[in-house]
Amino acid sequence: MDKHIDTICVQGGYTPGNGEPRQIPIIQSTTFKYDTSEDMGKLFDLEASGYFYTRLQNPTNDYVAKKLAELEGGKAGMLTSSGQAANFFAVFNIAKCGDHILSSANIYGGTFNLFSVTMKKMGIDFTFISPDSTEDEIQREIRPNTKAIFGETVANPSLAVLDIELFARVAHKNGIPLIIDNTFTTPVNCRPIEWGADIVTHSTTKYIDGHGVSVGGAIIDAGNFDWMAHRDKFPGLTTPDDSYHGITYAEKFGKEGAFITKATAQLMRDFGAIQSPQHAFYINMGLESLHVRMARHTENGRAVAEFLSSHPQVEWVTYPDLDGDKYNALAKKYCPNGTCGVISFGVKGGRKNAEAFMKQLKLIAIETHVADARSCCLHPASATHRQMTDEELISAGITADLVRISCGLESSADLIADLKQALDSVK
Ligand SMILES: *Cc1c(COP(=O)(O)O)cnc(C)c1O
Repeated sequence: MDKHIDTICVQGGYTPGNGEPRQIPIIQSTTFKYDTSEDMGKLFDLEASGYFYTRLQNPTNDYVAKKLAELEGGKAGMLTSSGQAANFFAVFNIAKCGDHILSSANIYGGTFNLFSVTMKKMGIDFTFISPDSTEDEIQREIRPNTKAIFGETVANPSLAVLDIELFARVAHKNGIPLIIDNTFTTPVNCRPIEWGADIVTHSTTKYIDGHGVSVGGAIIDAGNFDWMAHRDKFPGLTTPDDSYHGITYAEKFGKEGAFITKATAQLMRDFGAIQSPQHAFYINMGLESLHVRMARHTENGRAVAEFLSSHPQVEWVTYPDLDGDKYNALAKKYCPNGTCGVISFGVKGGRKNAEAFMKQLKLIAIETHVADARSCCLHPASATHRQMTDEELISAGITADLVRISCGLESSADLIADLKQALDSVK
């Protein structure tokens, strides 16, 4: 029976047997014991599934990855040490030196650096295009060596909503997968696989954790992409892996298992960017209330965005759930229950007034974080981007008056009161 998302949040991924722990056990062990070398040998040959070393796999992580896969409607999942590691693995699992990836330009700054600086040094080329591109504009950027398209459901921090169905259609027409970072909306507000995404990634550090306690990431495979049908494009999945006695992942594990098995067997083995089982336990606690919290984050987001739009000291508000927002139609399509609790807005009077406004906040804390139970606020021009001039900021897609607020789980009336007194004071 297909369960509702709320039920999967609470009970997915782990079903204890008779007399077993009700809560998922934290398997705090680096290694696992076997009776014979032959037993262990089968694991190293990928002939049997099981655990041998927590650098590659751990049962606690796998319970939580299974829950996330169920939530996203995928077939397999894995947890990584961070969202950065998740996006790196998701791309590097299919692209190698000499390949090309097409990415939305509106993505998280950390991902942009990962792609445009670090992975570029590895010989992978990236093209960044507007998330507002038409089908023809996307198609024009596809090259013979393009191995995937990448984008974010609701982008951090621009809050652009990606037309997932459109990007998936172009990807599939060209025999390549669509990778979607679903961090901001979570599977509670959007399930990209239902719209054609093949691989979904997360920074679990954000809403999934939700309490600001653990950095982590996840990758979920829809299990729909037919690697063998595009054999020449994806040799890593469709030709023998010498480091595993010549097994071919797409043959041995099929569409549903190949991607995550390869990412575990090769990338986790070699990079070890795994989430600790303790952190997996924390994010499972977050997942148990994700459906309840997302509803509140979104409700607070809407109330605060509406307040901001009506305040005379506010120049502009960007929030996809707001009527009249550039992305409102796409938000309604992909996130009918709302997107998230993050809003950006401009304080009238530019950099100086925005700085003064930030100083007056009492309840809302100044942090670079988002998607936490506690509301927080950032003025990039005086914090993360303070070295930049107003002109440089504009070319980075940020204006000097821009303030980003992440609405937490407090009473929206208290959040509005705090914003109001701070805005009123900079008149
Ligand atoms: C934060 C974030 C990341 C990076 O995640 P970390 O857990 O900080 O490594 C990736 N994508 C998006 C959309 C994010 O917001």
